[in-house]
Amino acid sequence: MTQSERSDTGVTAGGATKGDKMYLATTPEAKQSGTLVLETFEIAYRTDIGLIRQGNEDNYFVVGQGADLKTQGVLVGVADGMGGHNAGEVASLVAVETLASYYDPAFLALEPEERLADAVKRANIRILDLSNQNLDMQGLGTTLTALCLKESKAIVAHVGDCRIYLYRRGQLSQMTMDHSLVQEAVREGILTPEQARVHPQRNIITRALGTQDDLEVDTLTLPIQAGDVYLLASDGLHGLIEDFEIEDIIHQEYNNVDRITEALVQSALAEGGNDNVTVVVVKVPQAEGALDGEPGSPGGPGDDGDVTLP
Ligand code: CA
Repeated sequence: MTQSERSDTGVTAGGATKGDKMYLATTPEAKQSGTLVLETFEIAYRTDIGLIRQGNEDNYFVVGQGADLKTQGVLVGVADGMGGHNAGEVASLVAVETLASYYDPAFLALEPEERLADAVKRANIRILDLSNQNLDMQGLGTTLTALCLKESKAIVAHVGDCRIYLYRRGQLSQMTMDHSLVQEAVREGILTPEQARVHPQRNIITRALGTQDDLEVDTLTLPIQAGDVYLLASDGLHGLIEDFEIEDIIHQEYNNVDRITEALVQSALAEGGNDNVTVVVVKVPQAEGALDGEPGSPGGPGDDGDVTLP
């Protein structure tokens, strides 16, 4: 399988080649959106400063050339930084850059889930170091949520309140749990999801990179299925539009990952765009014989859609 870039040859965005690994990140020069195909996965990414904020503290990560994607998997991530004086932008950039160390041959002996969690922990240490060494960066921190699609598995590592959603056969489900005050209250039955959505403390996160040495990272490994769509999103999306709207958009635009990201970001802006919004979409190819334009039902009814990817 060859990796190919469908449209975005400017993938040096933010960019920089680190060794032979390519990563994308949002910097002032970076492209704000794009698409590519890696190991048959269709990927689209998009970030927007929103309508209120002065800077974009989100960063995203899409690995392209260089890494051995066939054996190591296709890795994407989203980070949402915090801290004054641009510290939030720095923190989320460092987070996504450090995520690339997942591909470092030194760590290949580890199982993918542990390797991914370790990359998140290394990012945490780098951010703590930055904070300790720079007085003007004290208090910087970031969330970091990563997804690796490797062979037939989806591997997740997650800290904070970015989310990964899975759209499978017409239904959206949330794969990650927010590390936020209000979501913990929802889990404990103290708040309803509706109350959480408008709660004045909804922006308080309970776990982030850059706050403690010993960071707990949520991990998860699930089998992927043909036709799956994985969505990574910062809270600038899911804080503004509801899950059913996200589901509707993916359903409507299922055949065009770029249109999915565009419609999601536009919806957040239409709801006020009061935060930076970043989305990365990865679509697993549909099973052969599935009808084009049949969203979410690869292979038709009764086909469980399992597929093993190269
Ligand atoms: Ca945010």
